[in-house]
Amino acid sequence: MAIRNSLDNVDRRFVLSSFKRLLEADSPAGYYPDVHACLAQILGELGYAMEVDNKATAYVRIPGERSDGVRCIAAHLDTVGLVVRGFNDNGTLRVRGIGTISYSSIEGETCRIHCRDGRVVEGQVICDRHSVHVFADSRDIARNETNMSVSIISDVRCPDDARALGVGAGALVAIDPHPQFFDNGYIVSRHIDDKAAVAVLLDVLRILKETGSVPAHDTLFAFPMCEEIGHGGSFVPEEVREYVALDIALIGPDYEADEHHVGVITSDSHGPYDWELTNRLIRLAAENCDRGKWSQQVTYRYTTDASHAYRASHDLKASAFGMACMNTHGRERSHIDALVQTERLALAYLLEG
Ligand SMILES: [Zn+2]
Repeated sequence: MAIRNSLDNVDRRFVLSSFKRLLEADSPAGYYPDVHACLAQILGELGYAMEVDNKATAYVRIPGERSDGVRCIAAHLDTVGLVVRGFNDNGTLRVRGIGTISYSSIEGETCRIHCRDGRVVEGQVICDRHSVHVFADSRDIARNETNMSVSIISDVRCPDDARALGVGAGALVAIDPHPQFFDNGYIVSRHIDDKAAVAVLLDVLRILKETGSVPAHDTLFAFPMCEEIGHGGSFVPEEVREYVALDIALIGPDYEADEHHVGVITSDSHGPYDWELTNRLIRLAAENCDRGKWSQQVTYRYTTDASHAYRASHDLKASAFGMACMNTHGRERSHIDALVQTERLALAYLLEG
């Protein structure tokens, strides 16, 4: 009954408002000050204090009914982005991707360049052969880090003009999230991966605080900063025995999912997650998610923080689930339904004994 009551407390408006606030805080992997401030602010409003470890993972500790078998439930704060590596003669910035960014999806998008001295410079991602009216091969040239640059939105004509603004090698570039929320519940935005899951966990924490519900086990809510670069969950506090990552599920020819689904990740590119824990999540999804709005997935071009934790020689079980998402690592698309189903499964997992 306690689980059922908590499931009924999911607040779509709080999830969406938290998601929007998180989107406003730039967080390409490697740059955490803004998103940490945002997360601490939201958690503070809910009555929680946030701890941060040395690799910038943020935590909230929640006492449970039992203190053995500590559980960690995680959603990552970092996003794909770019890092400045040098200059072209015309003052545009040569870049490399942070994480598996899709260059074709960011052409023309605005961005913010976070310089090492704290200055922030506005920019735009462009193809070096940028205008169909200027370059004969503009439409056909590959969109990749060889042919694409960041153009500073200012009167920059040479590398020294860019340097004068504080831009140099190592500056981190956040791509504009460009969110759109539709009346029918669809969401189109960059960084649904994984800020929508962070927003889901914030609503779980709100429910725990407001209803007095207590997780079955002591639980560590974790918000890593290095998932997109492959090692967010690789450090796990010693006491953790189960690690569940909330991260995007996929939509496409191999996936029985659409934007209304939560997907339970049974296996990722490194192989299967823990048999018992994953089966438990499947059972909980069947019992607590709406019919036809959950599915099982094998995500073979994909890993999660759970995978990082699992492979880092910790003594724990690992698995993952999350909102189904289309057009991943570009302007992604999901639906509020998928976030609600993800939260229902998270609550069921945490509250079941
Ligand atoms: Zn992710």
